[in-house]
Amino acid sequence: MFTERLDRARSEMQRQGVDALLLSVGADLPYLTGYEAMASERLTMLVVPADGRPQLVVPELEAPRVTPRPDFDITPWGELDDPIAKVHEIVGARSQIAFGETTWARFLVDLIKADGNRTFRHAVEVMKPLRAVKTADEIERLRAASHAVDRIAARLQAGEIPLVGQTEAAVSAELGRQIKEEGHSKVNFAIVAAGENAASPHHHAGERVIQADEGVLCDFGGTMYGDDGIGYCSDITRCVWTGTPPPEFVELYDVLHEAQVASVKAATVGTPAEEVDRVGRAIITDAGYGEYFIHRTGHGIGIEAHEEPYIVEGNSDPLVAGNAFSVEPGIYVPGTWGARLEDIVVAAADGPDSLNLVDHQLAQIG
Ligand code: ZN
Ligand code: ZN
Repeated sequence: MFTERLDRARSEMQRQGVDALLLSVGADLPYLTGYEAMASERLTMLVVPADGRPQLVVPELEAPRVTPRPDFDITPWGELDDPIAKVHEIVGARSQIAFGETTWARFLVDLIKADGNRTFRHAVEVMKPLRAVKTADEIERLRAASHAVDRIAARLQAGEIPLVGQTEAAVSAELGRQIKEEGHSKVNFAIVAAGENAASPHHHAGERVIQADEGVLCDFGGTMYGDDGIGYCSDITRCVWTGTPPPEFVELYDVLHEAQVASVKAATVGTPAEEVDRVGRAIITDAGYGEYFIHRTGHGIGIEAHEEPYIVEGNSDPLVAGNAFSVEPGIYVPGTWGARLEDIVVAAADGPDSLNLVDHQLAQIG
């Protein structure tokens, strides 16, 4: 798997005229090598020359964490060595250099102070066409992660996760516990937003106590790792009402549900990503809620919770088979309430393949 990925990266580099790819913290490095850099003041950097053997420059004390693979050399640097000099040495006379998006400035600034006339670019240009198109194996791993959070959402909808009388933070912690119990190694987020807090899309679960007769928005997900050290993410949003929802909220939710279903249905191979956004947004706007849908419809998902392709106005790239992304419209009425409905969907040759199958209705809990 890693051999094939590195080969594809090198051909993409050659196609784009990139001479060397420099990857540090972030998801591109584990995607290509199975190794995730420690985010620290000590530099870890994979140097992938378009025409040569990749070298992983890694602190000597972290080298034992790296699983050696036939596709790259491990180049440890000692406590008193200069890792920047080491990277410069490997890059040599190559002039078109691409950096990973999350390379720390403390290294980047020194790395771009090179002799010669190098040109610097974004590594995402090389990595995007690779990572955005999932293989059958990657799709099955995303499906397993999605099904795991589906089971948690089903328990939430069945009232098996206590809400009323609990703080948002306590429910968030319980969701996090279940995310791990369901096979994820890492909790990426567990948003729990009650009542008026649900009008804030990325609300931080706090000390607010959940009451009877209000809406609760839960958006949660984690990363499920395989034996190869690579993890794939889950991400789901469902809303419940602690009691019987008022007609105004039922109406809002019905519009949201209809928009979400329509966007999923539109997510076919060949459809521009922005069209998926437009279809759902039109339904929400026509129902009079347009000003309350304040974010894009979705984001790609894979080894990162948010990656290419983005389902947003302005992204006219047609969906290709293997694109995996969220479809998550939301309606947020400030000071009052909010709702979002989110599934992970794969564009497949025979139509949109929704990885989340748990009920989409607004669940009413006792
Ligand atoms: Zn989400
Ligand atoms: Zn999402």
